[in-house]
Amino acid sequence: MPRKKRWRRVHREPPVSVFKPAGIPAKSLQEILLTVDEFEAIRLADFEGLSQRDASAVMNISQPTFNRILASARNKVGRALVQGCVLRIEGGRYLLADGTGVLVCQDCGETLDPDTDSDTCPYCGSKRIRWFRWKNGVEQ
Ligand SMILES: [Zn+2]
Repeated sequence: MPRKKRWRRVHREPPVSVFKPAGIPAKSLQEILLTVDEFEAIRLADFEGLSQRDASAVMNISQPTFNRILASARNKVGRALVQGCVLRIEGGRYLLADGTGVLVCQDCGETLDPDTDSDTCPYCGSKRIRWFRWKNGVEQ
């Protein structure tokens, strides 16, 4: 039986979503996708200096899961630096810690329980579940 995946709690979305080597057209560069939860792992471990134990608690995931996300994130950032790739930060399985949003099924439009561990819509079975964020009544 596959283990349920938890939504990873992210406190801050990245201020910049694309890093690109200067002076080279983007279309001739390879692109690496870093998910927002991977970005959060780097922010907590390498920027804030949290232990993996504390950082995993902040993200509401197990320590082995945090360890795996951090290793993947560091590998991607390292590859981007060494090989001169575009680094794009977006997507991933996360929700925002401040609760300023709502979890919505993109196929049937139902609002879902944000504490769910499931990645499948209970109403229509879709896996296209997305976290929408609002700020001052405007979707971000
Ligand atoms: Zn649905």
